[in-house]
Amino acid sequence: MNIVKLNNGVEMPQLGFGVWQVPDAEATPAVSEAIKAGYRSIDTAAIYGNESGVGAALGMVDRDELFITTKLWNADQGYDPTLRAFDESMNKLGLDVLDLYLIHWPTPARELYVDTWKAFVELQKEGRVRAIGVSNFQPAHLRRLIDETGVVPAVNQVELHPYLQQSELRAFHAEHGVQTEAWSPLGQGGELLSDPVVTEIAARHHRSAAQIVLRWHLQLGNVVIPKSVTSARIRENIAVFDFELSEDELAALSTLDRGGRIGPNPDEFNQA
Ligand code: NAD
Repeated sequence: MNIVKLNNGVEMPQLGFGVWQVPDAEATPAVSEAIKAGYRSIDTAAIYGNESGVGAALGMVDRDELFITTKLWNADQGYDPTLRAFDESMNKLGLDVLDLYLIHWPTPARELYVDTWKAFVELQKEGRVRAIGVSNFQPAHLRRLIDETGVVPAVNQVELHPYLQQSELRAFHAEHGVQTEAWSPLGQGGELLSDPVVTEIAARHHRSAAQIVLRWHLQLGNVVIPKSVTSARIRENIAVFDFELSEDELAALSTLDRGGRIGPNPDEFNQA
């Protein structure tokens, strides 16, 4: 497993296991399966409704071998609500210290993300979370957090796959020391995995299309959190550390960028 070092020195596995849309009861067997397959990083969120199910699977290995991420939901933004929501998440997960806490969406029209970030900074100072970051933040939102608090997020988790490559955001991250983390790294398993550019490279390496896309992310330096509840795919998605794409193959995959956003536009998503 590759490890990335975040801007405060905390180490994070470059590949983890996402559990969006996994019901609470199914999260325990899915996360257990992932841990057995070698995953050590798990990505959940309060809004996924499966923090208890995730937590129930975490006793299989020593706590310090695991890297657990959860996210603050939009309705809980603001200084005091954030502190309360954090406690609730930690109770459900059954953890004393979290590895990474993310603001799930900026919801910019609600004007609460700076106060929320101040609560995150406090939680980190208290030692309750090892690293703090954001999700779905655009450059303007990141700039505002940095200008108003002086604390640079360790991670920004955003929609990113070959159809939506986020070049401007990735350049901002590189300049400021923010780790890029890709959600829906496989484009949610849609058209991308049958794109001829991807399948042709896959055939050449005797690998699956999903493995080629994950390898592209890893060689770009992205953290990835592919999701699956199917044992064979859970294992397949982590078996990507024993081959490499060539410069030409990376370049061919990079031509697929087409602004293909699947999820909401973060500038316009203000749901509480
Ligand atoms: P993904 O790109 O990981 O795709 C998952 C889907 O692809 C699966 O449901 C399955 O249908 C298919 N798939 C998985 N492995 C495959 C394989 N080897 N071969 C063929 N098909 C395969 O999409 P995702 O679940 O949306 O994203 C991954 C994780 O990112 C989520 O589980 C969640 O943890 C996180 N996420 C975060 C946000 C956010 O706002 N921060 C939003 C969406 C997702």
